[in-house]
Amino acid sequence: MTIKLSKVVAQKIVELIHVQSGFDVIVCDSTGTIIADSEKARIGQKHIGSCQILNSNRDYAVITAQEAEASNSHVKEGVNIAIEAEGVKIGTFGIAGPLEIVPPVARIAAGMIIMMLRDEELKDFIRNQVKVISSSVDQAANGEFNNIYELLKNTTENIANENDNCPEIYELIDRMSNLALKDTLTGTYNRRYINQKLPVDIISASLSEQSLSIIIADIDFFKKVNDSYGHVTGDHILKSFADILSGCIQRESDWISRFGGEEFLICLPGAGVEKAKEIAERMRSTIENEAIACGKHLIKITASFGVCSIKPSPRAPKINAEKLIECADHKLYIAKSNGRNRVES
Ligand code: GH3
Ligand code: MG
Ligand code: MG
Repeated sequence: MTIKLSKVVAQKIVELIHVQSGFDVIVCDSTGTIIADSEKARIGQKHIGSCQILNSNRDYAVITAQEAEASNSHVKEGVNIAIEAEGVKIGTFGIAGPLEIVPPVARIAAGMIIMMLRDEELKDFIRNQVKVISSSVDQAANGEFNNIYELLKNTTENIANENDNCPEIYELIDRMSNLALKDTLTGTYNRRYINQKLPVDIISASLSEQSLSIIIADIDFFKKVNDSYGHVTGDHILKSFADILSGCIQRESDWISRFGGEEFLICLPGAGVEKAKEIAERMRSTIENEAIACGKHLIKITASFGVCSIKPSPRAPKINAEKLIECADHKLYIAKSNGRNRVES
């Protein structure tokens, strides 16, 4: 499909060439009608020179100084040339001025129009892609996240080698990454992130022979909170709980994720058992001492913590993410059995 001449692009180029050269300039569409005019006087009129080009196999028409004079100022000295895209004439460009000067200007201007149109077309293409993908993301956000990776792959493929000057795309990729790896309620990472990141952190710890600890935190008697205050308040408490936990970790390599309903997993690369216990204890006491404001209620909660630490090395027996989580989960179970609001390691 050939591209279509746009009035906006035509007007832009007309103004540019007129300002730069001082010569009068027009652009006609594929019917020979003037769609842009530096004098803004003849828009909508048919142009004879343009029609001659569009209806013949010539790609330009010249009016000499003698012809201009003989016409009694009816026509001006200058040149009209075809604007061609993929061998099809989509309009003409006309410039009035001395024939020693204007023909190359006309050629360049016609070429620039095509380039600008292609640029517009590309932007339109990208905008449409963004719209399509955006709506798929919204659909995915309301349902399962299973298609997110497929979506991410398609997006990057679709925009590969395209204009990188399109901020919407970066925004979209950001949104997709967030959707794919973050929990929408609490803003912490999600289970998918744990599955991806924890094995990587364990391997890094093993290669650098550094300790690594994880904490699993679980709100005590959270079901009662929901039963007493309702799910909306329950959600608010969950978000506040996650914020408090996040506030207790400091290092850039530490991360927190929602492991399940009211359970969170905190990963502390480089932290040995003592350090991890200290952090878990800080989390526990901060939560115990904080009253969370929910509407007219001030709600107090406690939480229990299971800590598991490893110091892997390439020579030591391998421990995988699953085993590590199992271990922390078991410690959490002990904390619950021993009366809750406790840290066990
Ligand atoms: P325990 O001290 O043994 O952990 O008791 P618990 O009541 O916290 O544990 P239980 O596993 O019996 O119940 C967990 C509750 O968490 C039940 C469920 O309704 C609630 N829950 C899980 N996810 C969400 C959520 O996204 N929002 C809200 N409001 N509640 C949730
Ligand atoms: Mg609980
Ligand atoms: Mg639980």
